[in-house]
Amino acid sequence: MKAAVVTDFSKPMEIQEREIPRPDVQQVLVRMEASGLCHTDIHAAAGDWPVKPNPPFIPGHEGIGVVEAKGDRVDHVEIGDRVAIAWLGQACGHCDHCVSGWETLCLEQENSGYSVDGSFSEYAVAHGDYVVKVPDGIDPLDAAPLTCAGVTTYKAVKVSGAAPGKRALISGIGGLGHLALQYARIAGAETIAVDVTDEKLQLARDLGADHIIDARTQDVVEETRKVGGADVAIGLAVSNASFQAAYGSLRRGGTLVLVALPAEGKLELPVFETVLEGKRVIGSIVGTREDLAEVFHLHALGRTRVIREQRALDQVNESIADILAGRVAARIVFDFVDRRAEH
Ligand code: NAD
Ligand code: ZN
Ligand code: ZN
Repeated sequence: MKAAVVTDFSKPMEIQEREIPRPDVQQVLVRMEASGLCHTDIHAAAGDWPVKPNPPFIPGHEGIGVVEAKGDRVDHVEIGDRVAIAWLGQACGHCDHCVSGWETLCLEQENSGYSVDGSFSEYAVAHGDYVVKVPDGIDPLDAAPLTCAGVTTYKAVKVSGAAPGKRALISGIGGLGHLALQYARIAGAETIAVDVTDEKLQLARDLGADHIIDARTQDVVEETRKVGGADVAIGLAVSNASFQAAYGSLRRGGTLVLVALPAEGKLELPVFETVLEGKRVIGSIVGTREDLAEVFHLHALGRTRVIREQRALDQVNESIADILAGRVAARIVFDFVDRRAEH
């Protein structure tokens, strides 16, 4: 099978021919149909974070495909089911986090495309308990971005407290942000979209943002204060300056949710202001299997739009360059079905 492999943090990914993996008793073998390229894969390939993956590894954690084989102890997923392989590859299932609905905080978790091989390959194995079924009627090319960008921002909006009567600032309208904007609107909030490219600002307008701020030419804090300040700010841009601006945009009692993970990510927190103004700063990491099921359900109801462009896995390195240069629709999705038809 063909796979995109990180062999070294300082080199481009290699397209390699690999053996199709065999599922163990608890795993399923998934024949990939689509896999989204998340900015996290770019951080993984560059070794940006304090906890690093071990090359060689296969990135990818927005994998959608069909179960082709399964281990003896997998019984709630059938051969032929369409499933999603998400960042939460598996968790222990019995620690306090797992049993209280916070499996995403489990200390024993494995992460697809990071601690274990992910979905940038024609086939992947995944734990049968942690794949999430994709409902009929959802295009696999839409399901892919929903599997990380969707579930992550759905959860971030949930924990942010966005609601009718609240104003939510979405910082960064990329893969994650274009979905965050939609979930904040579904939650009933007035929305402020911030980005640094004309295309993304136009996309935010098209998706119904109430206010638009161009962080290249406008002062985010000042512009947000003009409309009354943000009750909620969600940090999705890979930029420390954007976190600082999002914090500064908060009203009294406001909440900043940190989601983006720049290399050496830092936010300076003024204690006096934070205390006297009752501000909250929280981190949010992906979402649970249940959150993803809810994300798919909302999409099946027609409440969300996934903005994406299809590419072939061979284009992985140029795709990364295009994302870093801001030259892409919100999400790039590798399409495995078209490719196979050509061979
Ligand atoms: P992306 O590259 O698709 O989107 C980033 C967007 O931010 C782009 O539209 C870009 O134009 C915009 N931007 C850049 N500088 C800006 C600035 N100063 N102000 C406002 N906007 C700015 O990336 P993505 O795939 O959406 O991922 C974003 C980040 O979220 C990455 O760091 C990724 O690793 C992280 N992430 C976190 C989680 C989590 O669970 N916490 C999950 C997935 C991704
Ligand atoms: Zn991701
Ligand atoms: Zn656990």
